[in-house]
Amino acid sequence: MAQFHTLSIKNIHRETAQCITLSFNIPEQLKQTFSFKAGQYITLKTTINGESIRRDYSLCSSPKSGDITVAVKEVEGGTFSKYANNSLKIGDTLDVAEPKGRFTFEPLATATRTIAAFAAGSGITPVLSIAKTLLEEEPNSTFVLVYGNKTTQDTIFLNELLALHHTYKERFVIQFLFSQAQEPDALFGRIEKSTVNLIVKNRYKHVIIDAFYLCGP
Ligand SMILES: Cc1cc2nc3c(=O)[nH]c(=O)nc-3n(C[C@H](O)[C@H](O)[C@H](O)COP(=O)(O)OP(=O)(O)OC[C@H]3O[C@@H](n4cnc5c(N)ncnc54)[C@H](O)[C@@H]3O)c2cc1C
Repeated sequence: MAQFHTLSIKNIHRETAQCITLSFNIPEQLKQTFSFKAGQYITLKTTINGESIRRDYSLCSSPKSGDITVAVKEVEGGTFSKYANNSLKIGDTLDVAEPKGRFTFEPLATATRTIAAFAAGSGITPVLSIAKTLLEEEPNSTFVLVYGNKTTQDTIFLNELLALHHTYKERFVIQFLFSQAQEPDALFGRIEKSTVNLIVKNRYKHVIIDAFYLCGP
């Protein structure tokens, strides 16, 4: 049985018209309980219109940051995502279960490897945590991200990803795809077999990709 802890919201940031990030205040005595591996998720529980609601959200912060941050994308007709995007305020409380999940990445400072990830929409959340962890903690490794969205406007973490690329240069390669917009340097369409072939068999054919992470909405 998941054990929940009542945590207050420390910050809310609007990422796109349909997505917010929220972070929590973690009391000192719960810091250990809320330590996590990159890629893990938390379960949020609250009562909406008299109904108890529980939903899972991947942590997008890196374990080293000490932050517990999730991104919630509003889905049409969605109970919790609509409530989070439109009603939650800083200082409100939610019941939060400790991080869990096996979609993880564990850094090894001495490793020299290439990790590739294919993400679409809100699937970027655990991948961002994993990418930041590799970039910060494995100085000889490279991360290749293929990230699909409809347009730049609904691309969650667009600015943060571009800033990471600016910092880490060729250690953090990003290939954007947009299905409803033509953008310079981006591919048009959705992630499909030809996208995977382009990255793995063409651009990176001389590189051994040590692990792949896939995450969709
Ligand atoms: C491990 C994990 C990690 C996740 N990480 C993230 C994340 O990082 N970010 C994120 O945004 N989401 C994430 N999700 C998804 C998230 O848990 C929620 O499922 C999502 O936010 C929708 O919840 P909701 O309450 O808004 O929608 P819900 O109320 O659950 O509705 C979902 C959809 O079902 C439809 N629906 C509801 N009831 C019915 C019905 N009776 N008949 C037909 N259709 C119906 C709704 O219209 C809506 O389109 C993750 C899920 C998992 C399992």
